[in-house]
Amino acid sequence: MSWHPHLWHPTTQVAVAPEPLRVVGSRGSLLELEDGRQLIDAISSWWVTLHGHAEPSIAAAIGRQAQQLEQVIFANFSHRPAEQLATRLSALTGLERLFFSDNGSTAVEVALKIAWQWWRNQGSERRQLIAFEGAYHGDTFGAMALGDRSIFTAPYDDLLFDVARIPWPHTHWGDGGLEQREAEALAQLDRALQTPTAALIVEPLIQGASGMRLVRAGFLRAVQERLRASGALLIADEVMTGFGRTGALFASQRAQLQPDLVALSKGLTGGFLPMGVTLASERLYRGFISDTPAHTFFHGHSFTANPLGCAAALASLDLLQRNPERFQQFEARHRPGLEQLSTHPLVKRVRCLGTMAAFEVEAGAASYLNPVGRQIQRLCLEQGVFLRPLGHVVYLLPPLGISEAQLQRCYEALEAALGQLQQ
Ligand SMILES: *Cc1c(COP(=O)(O)O)cnc(C)c1O
Repeated sequence: MSWHPHLWHPTTQVAVAPEPLRVVGSRGSLLELEDGRQLIDAISSWWVTLHGHAEPSIAAAIGRQAQQLEQVIFANFSHRPAEQLATRLSALTGLERLFFSDNGSTAVEVALKIAWQWWRNQGSERRQLIAFEGAYHGDTFGAMALGDRSIFTAPYDDLLFDVARIPWPHTHWGDGGLEQREAEALAQLDRALQTPTAALIVEPLIQGASGMRLVRAGFLRAVQERLRASGALLIADEVMTGFGRTGALFASQRAQLQPDLVALSKGLTGGFLPMGVTLASERLYRGFISDTPAHTFFHGHSFTANPLGCAAALASLDLLQRNPERFQQFEARHRPGLEQLSTHPLVKRVRCLGTMAAFEVEAGAASYLNPVGRQIQRLCLEQGVFLRPLGHVVYLLPPLGISEAQLQRCYEALEAALGQLQQ
């Protein structure tokens, strides 16, 4: 296949990237290519495919909804699928209000705008935002500004607002010196909080795009304690970690955090349709009810609360809640393969959380541009396993429904690829 004359692919440097593979179908953890090959989708198609591709119950729910109400303007109107989803996610997160948008970046933008305007509506002068080193919160401007500066943001850095940046004391199997790095990060947070702060945003437990970097729950609770003491709001970006990915329904729960705002997307519709939601506490919602028109939250997307997306999300939640052991016990399924891999001389800094298993390949620079990831991608592809390493960080993040045999094939492909790299 060759590059299409009219398409522009995301996050792809055409000068070096392999040409895209044409997909004609999917089922479970498998992608079927036009040339007849089948690939295991070991990264859930950029972390969205939650149960499996073409999951029948979600497909059926979307089909039913499409024949009843496909879309309606969500100012002036409401509908049952949106109400049901809001009620269920509110009960599951403990946050009473749900605002719909279209993807993870907009879910973050909405959280940021709510936090910022909530203070402003009260006449407060809190103007500082805090985020972590290595953070990724999406590709729109507010989300980019919250995320760390990197090769992804470089062309736009002049346009991005400043945020206070705190170290992310990430860890891995057999890590040492962690307590001191955590203490240093907390000391920096204490210093930052001396400036009046509107909110801090965090990817709870695991930073995804910066390389599957884990922190301890205890560190995040210490962060939360300091925020509470200072009055600043806590925003949890659970766009990747939500819906069982970390072994609990939400990473905030696994870490015992009580955020004021939560952004969700990716797994929300089981990976079928683009949709984002931002959950907020009732306290924040109340801060927008006023006789002053400027206190209104003037934000809305054309497809707000699209009924098809809501129907998909409800069907996906049914599946998750019916089989909680599927996400609760996934980590144990990774262990044997990952322990075996960890003995390989090129494999460093192994970590695992819920459905995510990752390690770093010790070859060349620790950067997104390290070509070793692309080599491993190519070698695994030859064995029927699709991966997309983040530079030298190789990870698996498969759909919950992946079979034992398929998961084992992922690990075998990695073993073989590492063996070939060494030669
Ligand atoms: C993917 C991601 C986003 C952005 O979501 P999009 O749907 O790609 O816009 C934001 N935050 C985190 C933590 C993510 O992993």
